[in-house]
Amino acid sequence: MITLAAEKCIGCVKCVKACPFGVIVMKGKKAVIGDGCTLCGACEQICPVSAITIERAMKDIDLTQYSGVWVVAETEGSQRVKNFTFELLGKGRELTDILGQSVSCILLGNDVAKFADTLIHHGADSVFIGESEALSRYRAEAFAPVITGLISRYKPCIVLFGATHAGRDLAPRVAASLELGLTADCTGLSILDGLLLQTRPAFGGNIMADIICPYTRPQMATVRPNVMKKMEPDAKRAGEKITVPVKIDASSFRIVLKEILDSPQTGKVKIDEADIIVSGGRGVCTNGGFALLEELAGVLGGVVGCSRVAVDLGCRPKSVQVGQSGTTVSPKLYVAVGISGSIQHQVGMKSSDTIVAINNDPAAPIFQVADFGIIGDYRAIIPALVVEVKKNRGG
Ligand code: SF4
Ligand code: SF4
Repeated sequence: MITLAAEKCIGCVKCVKACPFGVIVMKGKKAVIGDGCTLCGACEQICPVSAITIERAMKDIDLTQYSGVWVVAETEGSQRVKNFTFELLGKGRELTDILGQSVSCILLGNDVAKFADTLIHHGADSVFIGESEALSRYRAEAFAPVITGLISRYKPCIVLFGATHAGRDLAPRVAASLELGLTADCTGLSILDGLLLQTRPAFGGNIMADIICPYTRPQMATVRPNVMKKMEPDAKRAGEKITVPVKIDASSFRIVLKEILDSPQTGKVKIDEADIIVSGGRGVCTNGGFALLEELAGVLGGVVGCSRVAVDLGCRPKSVQVGQSGTTVSPKLYVAVGISGSIQHQVGMKSSDTIVAINNDPAAPIFQVADFGIIGDYRAIIPALVVEVKKNRGG
């Protein structure tokens, strides 16, 4: 329930600008909340005199009111849907087939409605589409209230976000507004006795913890990209497209976006979407070893990744780190060079289709998850591989 204490209102109009659903108007010098409030919380957060309060019933809620699995989509501007969205839809499909419910997708952006059919082909039964210039790039102040409002209104049972930079920022904001818990960085999701069993690494990746939320709804999780399998797209699938009328006034945002700087990865294939990754660890950090890996990645048409040690030693940027504290990858080919293969590294790459390990220590744990192992000095092995690949490709 939302309440506006008129006697406290100083008529600053901030709530009118902040309401993404356009339901607050000024009458005289006082704000008035009209019909259609979704309880998104944006006005409550921005009111400078705490005139607005939202009470959410957190105890004894009727869990049977909540139904459906929601996936929060991410796009690369208006260019494409990010891959992990399809993975979450595939997992959502699997979960709802057990629960006997439906899968919905929230698609927010500018000029993104054109992606709705693709999302339906990948498993969504319905797509909520919110378009606004203010949603053209991820900004928490624009995205969080819209998603919070939709969840409050439609009451899904499960909401899944990607454990991406945006998802890791967005999901906790939404969960906090709704006074809910959130399981971060899940690597497995299943249903146990009707509840979402959320599996994630714990204690430094040494154990896998199973987490359930029996008392609150929705059950919310962020999920690592590249750990779930997307379903084969089916162009015959039909679904519902629901337009969400949003009215976002960016001038109400407390954070001003002044400049967007390109990262060194801009324009290149990102490590979490690469088909071939040649990754180096401690053993490659000296004597320009990564130059050899760049050469192999170049002839294979892949990208270079690394272990955490290589980042700690300053050889490579964090943006290409594979593993529990870096990026989870699932390429067709993963070549691990001079990487011992700690459990934390394995968590981030073991779902690769084919793993090739090159290491001079035959006892290195990486060989336990490798499909092919080469024991020896990478400085001799990599140039030989480059020659063979070039020969096979007629280079
Ligand atoms: Fe406030 Fe959100 Fe309701 Fe608008 S929709 S009145 S911002 S809680
Ligand atoms: Fe009144 Fe608060 Fe809205 Fe300002 S933000 S108009 S003080 S209710």
